[in-house]
Order: sequence, then structure tokens, then C-alpha cells
Amino acid sequence: MICRLCGKSFLISEMSEEHYPAHSVGNDDIVKLDLVKMIDSIQSSEISNRVKSGEKLENVIDDVFDNQLSETLYPRGRTARTLCRNCNTFLGKYDEAYLKFFNSDGDPRSIKGFQPITKLQIIKSIFGKFLSIPEALEEDFDFVNFVKDEEQTEYTGIWNIYFVTRDFSSDILGLKDIGTGKAVFEEGVVYELSDDKFIYNLLNFPKHPCFEMTNLFDILKKNYIVVKGTGANGGYHSQILLSRLFQTMNESDDK
Ligand SMILES: [Zn+2]
Repeated sequence: MICRLCGKSFLISEMSEEHYPAHSVGNDDIVKLDLVKMIDSIQSSEISNRVKSGEKLENVIDDVFDNQLSETLYPRGRTARTLCRNCNTFLGKYDEAYLKFFNSDGDPRSIKGFQPITKLQIIKSIFGKFLSIPEALEEDFDFVNFVKDEEQTEYTGIWNIYFVTRDFSSDILGLKDIGTGKAVFEEGVVYELSDDKFIYNLLNFPKHPCFEMTNLFDILKKNYIVVKGTGANGGYHSQILLSRLFQTMNESDDK
């Protein structure tokens, strides 16, 4: 196997099993949402009938979620073997920086007090995560050196990362779906990964103006605005969610 960061070849046993996203930011005992059933449940009257008959909405949703929509897919969190142990340890440093960002909710008032090197590590942590997502394994990213080289402060390649925080506009029924995904547009390709608080998209073109998102490099500035939620049009997140829904439907048709 080829390590996605250093590019050297290793036996599978020499690769590390890394979490994407990291354990500490929500990747723990992931359940796979059954998207087809989810849409069915929302469209069926079950939820509204149960609420009308006096059950609390929250309880109904929890119940439907636990019993009908989820199967435990990754009891130890979702992992991939895409990095050698050295590179995984190396990226761990970036993940520590990212955890600070995560814990302060990306709030500009906190982040502006971080050292410039920490801010860069936060950025490199997210770029690094995209190396490991299954949808992007064939992609030959031009930011590998930027991630690999701690000293490199500028990235001039073709990829952009934008993010938003999660809210009810991004999460159907408030359920957090932290899957990864890919969508193809006329302009290029969009990848997605997310954690408990943020949704990240990696694009090889400047984002569509109609989708409001924060550029990840903006966290280097003194002031920036973190876009909350994916807005009324659902952003790339809903497009990717939908393409996964159709994929799931096709797969169940094939059975
Ligand atoms: Zn490596």
C-alpha cells in the first residue's frame, strides 16, 4: 500500500489505522444512517401521528433513529488505512491544533489569539484529513507537500477548503451525519468531510457564490466570519447527501 502523505510503499500491517474525523471530535461509535428509510419515515405519518397522540417529538425521533434508521457500522469509529505509522504520528500534531479550534467552536475571538503556526497546523490538519477519505483515494492532490512540510506557510495549488458550522439547516431532524462524500459539478469536484461541529468541503474551483461558506484560510486573518449552517439552499452538503441517497437507493434496487 502507498502512504497518502509520504508516498512510500508499505505492507498493510505497517499502515496505521487512522480515524477520520478524529476520535476527539465526534468519531466514536458511528452509526450509519439509512437514508432511504429516513426519507420514508419523514414522509410517512408515523412521526406526526405519534406526536399528535402526545409523545414528545424528541423521544419519537430518538426512538425512530435508534430502532429503524441506524445500524452500527463502525463500533470503534470510522477508520481507514491510508497512512504509514510515521505519517499518522506526524499528522497527530496537527490534530492537536485542530482540537483547540474545535473546542473553541472556531470562534474568531479565540482563534485570533493562537500562534500563527497553530493556525497553519489547523489548516493543514483539515487538508491532511482529505487525503484519507475513501472517495478521494484516486485523487492526486497538489497539497501533499504543503501538509508534509511544517515550515511551509503558503499554499498556491488549485484546491480550496470552505466550511460551515452545523445547525438545523445542515442536519435533517437534527441528526448529525458525519459521512464523507463527493459530488461532481461542471466546474469541478467537491469532496466533503465533517465532524460534530463543522462541515468541510474541498473544491478544485472557487465555490459557487450562492453557497455561503467560510474559506479555511480566513482563520489566518484577525477577523473572519464563521458561516452558520448550510442555509436555505442546503449548500454542497445537501447535494452530497442527496447523491449518497440515490446511490443507496440504487444499491438496494440491485439486491
Ligand atoms: Zn507515510
